[in-house]
Amino acid sequence: MKRIVVLGGGESGTGAAVLAKVKGFDVFLSDMGKIDDAHRELLEKWDIPYESGHHTEELILNADEVIKSPGIPATAPMIEKIAAKGIGIISEIEFAGRYDRARKICITGSNGKTTTTSLIYYLLKNAGLNVGLGGNIGKSYALQVATENFDIYVLELSSFQLDNMYDFKADIAIITNITPDHLDRYDHKLENYVKAKFRITRNMKSDDCFIFCSDDEITINHLNRIVVRARMLPFTQKTEVREGAFIRDDKMVVRYNDGECDMFLRDLALGGRHNVYNSMAAAIAGKVMNIDNDTIREALSSFQAVEHRLEKVLSIGDVLYINDSKATNVDAAWYALECQTRPVVWIVGGTDKGNDYSPLVPLAREKVKAIICLGLDNAKIHKAFSDAVPEMHDVTSAEDAVKLAHRIAVAGDVVLLSPCCASFDLFKNYEDRGRQFKEAVRNL
Ligand code: ADP
Repeated sequence: MKRIVVLGGGESGTGAAVLAKVKGFDVFLSDMGKIDDAHRELLEKWDIPYESGHHTEELILNADEVIKSPGIPATAPMIEKIAAKGIGIISEIEFAGRYDRARKICITGSNGKTTTTSLIYYLLKNAGLNVGLGGNIGKSYALQVATENFDIYVLELSSFQLDNMYDFKADIAIITNITPDHLDRYDHKLENYVKAKFRITRNMKSDDCFIFCSDDEITINHLNRIVVRARMLPFTQKTEVREGAFIRDDKMVVRYNDGECDMFLRDLALGGRHNVYNSMAAAIAGKVMNIDNDTIREALSSFQAVEHRLEKVLSIGDVLYINDSKATNVDAAWYALECQTRPVVWIVGGTDKGNDYSPLVPLAREKVKAIICLGLDNAKIHKAFSDAVPEMHDVTSAEDAVKLAHRIAVAGDVVLLSPCCASFDLFKNYEDRGRQFKEAVRNL
């Protein structure tokens, strides 16, 4: 019997292990760290042998194939040993794709993946289709392939999930945009990161569709150098396109085949220029899936923001509190500031990932009345913004940040948590940061 070893016992790894079990393989799962209770229970329920806290080489190096969780870097010692022995290493998505005949809409990009994926899922659900949601979001794709029976999947794929994909094919692939992020995992080479993102277009054929942002320089530069066989469907806010999505007057227009779907920008449920892009990508996918214009308009105008993404929390004394804790890089924070129309008290900071804050300075000068740094080391933020913003403060808890913001803000202002940084200096993760922020706002 073929032996499959799964490395990593999180959502992705345990899902892959269940699918391998269902398909009759000899399965073993190993995690260097702890496996949380829910995933432990899942493994036990399916009678899958596993270990945690260490890797036992004899139980791993006898694998015929290894499924690597996306959190484990290719440079981890165990992965290097497996590769040196010539054992094939694939991702959960690659593995699950082998057993799935459903149509697959796959979304990657530096920012906007979760929003666009959720929008498309909502749109297809509203159209009455039998659709599953997975990848980097919710339940793992592999677990759903093992236990559900969907006709279509909408999959959010991070570049780490794309890294070990070879034969997987998307029917519709979307790259929302590409800005430098996670370069530490790509030898600090932008090109490697861009190539990882473009793996989403691998194996596509002429009747598949590739949806991308033609205003995004990095995407376009790369497209000029490679051949993608799929039908090209760009979205842009700068020009008109023959097929794809663009802006005409105060409307978003989608053209596909000979049909057109238009919609007033003011009717889009999600605000901000970045969300116009996300809505365009979703609408194109909707047209390709043959969804009628009314359903597309209705879905894009009634969608509720995803938690921690420019999420409106509360308005207190006409001060609006917005939780954008997921903005962990400069580009995301840029869009958050860009779409503000009221004076901003900006809560920013955390673990700096080598940020260059300069693109934010003009926006800060124009819109931000005070900065509250929520991080352990705020030196870089002070240096970047001290000339642009009248007031700067430092705090080390979400509660103090909110209380201080409450004192500074006056009616008509916005308090925006859009940290531009990772959260690990003071919080468990960005969700924890966002929840503590919301809790503090509710306690005001
Ligand atoms: P991802 O899943 O790629 O991290 P999210 O949809 O979770 O993307 O959004 C992450 C952050 O990026 C949020 O702060 C959000 O407001 C911002 N954002 C969303 N869409 C875009 C976009 N198209 N371009 C730039 N920033 C975006």
